[in-house]
Amino acid sequence: MADLAAFHAWMSDFASVVADRAEELTELDRVIGDADHGSNMARGTAAVAALAQEDFGSIEAYVKKVGMTLVSTVGGASGPLYGTFFLRMAGPLAEVQDAGTAELGEALSAGVQGVLARGKAELGDKTMYDAWSPALEAYRNTADQGGEVRAALQAAAQGAAEGRDATIDLVARKGRASYLGERSKGHQDPGATSTTLLLESAARSLA
Ligand code: ADP
Ligand code: MG
Repeated sequence: MADLAAFHAWMSDFASVVADRAEELTELDRVIGDADHGSNMARGTAAVAALAQEDFGSIEAYVKKVGMTLVSTVGGASGPLYGTFFLRMAGPLAEVQDAGTAELGEALSAGVQGVLARGKAELGDKTMYDAWSPALEAYRNTADQGGEVRAALQAAAQGAAEGRDATIDLVARKGRASYLGERSKGHQDPGATSTTLLLESAARSLA
């Protein structure tokens, strides 16, 4: 079960991981993009980490504010995508004070639908969706077998990591990396990498 404190802990954990790994994210983006993914994400997650839990009466209100903060601070392609993820995640969490496996699964699913609606990426386009999609599938499989929140999120993080690794061999068809065409092959996608960090952080914090 995950309450407001757990969601807040998730964002604190993610912000510290992104701060630690910002150079690595930027380096990935330097190779197939414009070398700003780490700095974009570090700026946005620091702004999110500065939100005080006491200012929010519900998970829904907090997650919405997280989304709006990411939209206004991250920038680039990834800001609106991560922002939309959290804004859409809020829907299924309305009225929920302690999210269980099913509620969290619905929230993740709504968030990923938001990423899709916003970015129009398809599986195999070498974007963050290539991490989100197997993560969601793994989450559902574990939840369907009766797994608790932590087990489902650990499976999601594992799925995301596999999807992230699979982006290496893909040719980018969306975002800046698509300008490189075939030359984008052989390099890991930065957004799929940060999505994996987000889910690993969730598996540590949201249970
Ligand atoms: P920008 O590309 O504007 O510099 P970032 O560097 O912050 O923005 O983020 C780049 C990441 O955004 C990519 O690695 C990719 O995962 C993700 N991305 C870009 N375009 C899309 C899209 N249309 N759908 C999903 N993800 C996308
Ligand atoms: Mg970039």
